[in-house]
Amino acid sequence: MSPSPSPTTRFAPAPTGRLHLGHLANAIFVWGLGRARGGRVLLRIEDHDRGRCRPEYEAALLDDLDRLGLAADEPSTPALRAGPSSYRQSDNAPAYQAALAQLGTATAVYACDCTRATFAGWRDAHGEPWSGPGCPGECATRGLEPRGDRTIRAALGDGIESWTELLGGPRSGAVAPNGDLPVRDRDGNWTYGFCVVVDDLRHDVDLVVRGEDLIEATPDQVRLGRLLGRGAPPAFAHHPLVLREDGSKLSKADGATSLGELLDAGRTVPELVGTAAHAVGLAPSDAPLSLDSAGALAARRLSPSAGPPPGSSGSDR
Ligand SMILES: [Zn+2]
Repeated sequence: MSPSPSPTTRFAPAPTGRLHLGHLANAIFVWGLGRARGGRVLLRIEDHDRGRCRPEYEAALLDDLDRLGLAADEPSTPALRAGPSSYRQSDNAPAYQAALAQLGTATAVYACDCTRATFAGWRDAHGEPWSGPGCPGECATRGLEPRGDRTIRAALGDGIESWTELLGGPRSGAVAPNGDLPVRDRDGNWTYGFCVVVDDLRHDVDLVVRGEDLIEATPDQVRLGRLLGRGAPPAFAHHPLVLREDGSKLSKADGATSLGELLDAGRTVPELVGTAAHAVGLAPSDAPLSLDSAGALAARRLSPSAGPPPGSSGSDR
């Protein structure tokens, strides 16, 4: 499926720490690809994990976006500060509850009491990791009562799902290779893999721009969307990650790369944009760049199968 001519995409950070250079690189791709295709950018607060998210991190995140000049088409940062929002996951439990009920009409949704020890026990007994679909305890057949200490899983089936990948051509992958999708975890949190699909569906997101570490999650998300009644999957653009010098993924624990602290220390927005763009291979050096210029560099990475930008004869933006 080709991406729609004017897509809706989203920037969707989790307030589990300060924004860092990896988020800025993601933002360059989100805004760059979205704008290049004449689309809209939504802002979504992914605070589904109530144990790890903090209101003070969300407040800092919104301030950082304002300082960076990253403005979504919807919602505004003042709207998010003002109170509950359709774009904050913790405000939308009824939407996930309704989606779970709908999912239950399409496939098996079941309580699972498998723990990490269950998976480890399988590996010890069989000499290889357990692989899906289902779960090692075969909980789908056990009729366990949903309880606070049990995971809720949805049977996604098996086979292959394919999708349009705007930064590298068509992709496909196996569904549920590591087991049926957890929808709600043992602590009662809705999961990332469930929330993003429900949110992208209810907000009409049809272009998902994110780091390449999430490619493996994509087949499950495409299948889940279909089970929830989505006609065609979104198009995806999985981009390179900002890595540490040792090649590992940057995380929120890397305090020295917090964007807010770098700005506090006197770095300018174009300097940070140039650093982030260089770190993911968009720019040959880390010279300062405007957000628009960096976004244009990201848009040049669009694969030919993505087609020309609407109304464009080859210009950058
Ligand atoms: Zn189980």
